[in-house]
Amino acid sequence: MTAPTPARTEGAGALPANPAPAEAGQAVAPGLIEISGIDYAYGTGKARKQVLFGNDLRLEAGEFVVLTGPSGSGKTTLLSLIGALRSIQTGSIEVMSYRLAGLSQRRMEEVRREIGFIFQDHNLFDALTAYDTLRLAMRLCRERYTRRDFETRPTRLIESLDIAEQTHAKPKSMSTGQKQRVAIARALINDPKLILADEPTAALDKNRADHVIALLKARVVEQGATIFMVTHDPRIFAFADRVVEMVDGRISRDR
Ligand code: ADP
Ligand code: MG
Repeated sequence: MTAPTPARTEGAGALPANPAPAEAGQAVAPGLIEISGIDYAYGTGKARKQVLFGNDLRLEAGEFVVLTGPSGSGKTTLLSLIGALRSIQTGSIEVMSYRLAGLSQRRMEEVRREIGFIFQDHNLFDALTAYDTLRLAMRLCRERYTRRDFETRPTRLIESLDIAEQTHAKPKSMSTGQKQRVAIARALINDPKLILADEPTAALDKNRADHVIALLKARVVEQGATIFMVTHDPRIFAFADRVVEMVDGRISRDR
């Protein structure tokens, strides 16, 4: 366990200055993930099915860690617990400055605002263009930005992902790979210190996948971001600092 440190104050945090993080979200060393004794079960009574068993894992700030393992082994479930998308049942997770167990829905939302999520089903709004998707995401952290940032940041990021021609397009006219890159841009637009990615390159061809991984890796190197990525793609393993494997709900190997 990490010794508590004073509540964080740096401006990069998307949390409003007031109210301060809840007691349950008391600050610990920022930028890391500390998982201990995590079990998880779906359903109740006869339908109850435990899918995670006693997981412990620690990620240092600035690490790029890959989580791999067979389909159905619990990877997405673990990611959703770390990302405050599901409530913890047993065990504890500290993510960045927050203890997640026992947080209210509202506090969980505040934690989520600080995380860049890249999920398999990109979840783009049909009605929004790529540009508007990024502007909307920026509004979650609007206090950081000038009016000019709202013009320039989306354009720059869209260009760096090689989808400039999709700037004013809506999802229905994009390819799967283009949609995936818009979703990646949305995850990165606020420079999150933590990026949680669930098979982010599954819809991309090899060149595109390499490009996206290089871009994510640059976040680690240049901005000290921490990435926890579920992937089956062995080519990505080479970019990672560590590869951990989950089998039947247990992190079985850390190599
Ligand atoms: P992975 O991402 O490794 O494929 P998941 O975390 O998605 O694994 O799933 C782990 C297990 O939990 C699987 O047996 C899956 O069927 C089950 N599961 C996942 N989501 C739900 C859900 N919403 N309700 C019930 N069972 C679920
Ligand atoms: Mg999954």
